[in-house]
Amino acid sequence: MMSHLLSIDSLSRDDIDHLMRVAAQMEPIAQRRKITRVLEGAVLGNLFFEASTRTRVSFHTAFSRLGGSVCDTTGFTFSSMAKGESIYDTSRVMAGYCDAIVMRHPDQGSVAEFASATQVPVINAGDGPGEHPSQALLDFYTIDKEFTRQGKSLNGAHVLMTGDLKFGRTVHSLIKLLSLYAPMRVTLVAPPGLEMPAHLIERVSRQGLDVQVRESLAGDFSDVDVVYTTRIQKERFTAEMSEGFNLSRDFTVHRAFMDSRCNPSTIIMHPLPRDSRPEANDLDVDLNGDPRLAIFRQTDNGIPVRMAIFATLLKVEDLIAKDLRDVPWFVPAKVGVDDAVF
Ligand code: ASP
Repeated sequence: MMSHLLSIDSLSRDDIDHLMRVAAQMEPIAQRRKITRVLEGAVLGNLFFEASTRTRVSFHTAFSRLGGSVCDTTGFTFSSMAKGESIYDTSRVMAGYCDAIVMRHPDQGSVAEFASATQVPVINAGDGPGEHPSQALLDFYTIDKEFTRQGKSLNGAHVLMTGDLKFGRTVHSLIKLLSLYAPMRVTLVAPPGLEMPAHLIERVSRQGLDVQVRESLAGDFSDVDVVYTTRIQKERFTAEMSEGFNLSRDFTVHRAFMDSRCNPSTIIMHPLPRDSRPEANDLDVDLNGDPRLAIFRQTDNGIPVRMAIFATLLKVEDLIAKDLRDVPWFVPAKVGVDDAVF
């Protein structure tokens, strides 16, 4: 098993299966039925140099639910990087304070550079347009869990990825992960200029993933099991791209698309945030409350999966079962008002 989690490249299929099993064991804790203190005394450094809500809070929550405590830094303004400190120096300093470090940074490769200066486990929470491996793990956990509920097999499953496949680091990690579970099919639909990088398509195809590229969401998608939508990452556009960017086709996934082109058991995923402004070409809010919409089940799954990552990197996964107590406080049966009841 890896000593850092920087990219899906460092994981074997056995590693992923192990993380999935540990995540399933974490469910009673993540769902607030049980408490563990297995990481009592441990400290996490949660360093976010780029915008985040769910990744930052869910890593924080996951570590806290294992009994550890968390130090947070957000943005460059309040960190010493604003004074010109190098990634190497910051890494060595943080490693002296913390037992694990989660880092998000706008530059591709920066988290790997950070990890090269320390033996304390480092988790890449997103390095620019590079990768977001913990998101891919929770996406895969979600697919597996939804398929189990539906009685479907992962073998030969068909995933449609749509939206910004060029800058979307979650799809970069996810397509690599899915290639370890070939045979599987992936169909890619992206606006012109935002296509999945060719080197990734070549690589996963070589590993046995069946990859098709389509130009639009027109036509039949009735054999798709998962529609994985992503936000257009305008913050990563060059000035030239922003100026010339104009969508000539509709890339919005809405109820009419799901009803007319997909099948009734197709689930909808999104790494979130979705851009809910009308002109955004993102996942439409008209699917809210629809049981096919798995986006909040997916965000909930971030907790057990991130707990599993910490427990595995810090080598306490075998202690969890021995260390459980009941939760004494009130927990509602459903956390959302329109959560599906399966
Ligand atoms: N939250 C995801 C990420 O950090 C997706 C996004 O920002 O659109 O990559």
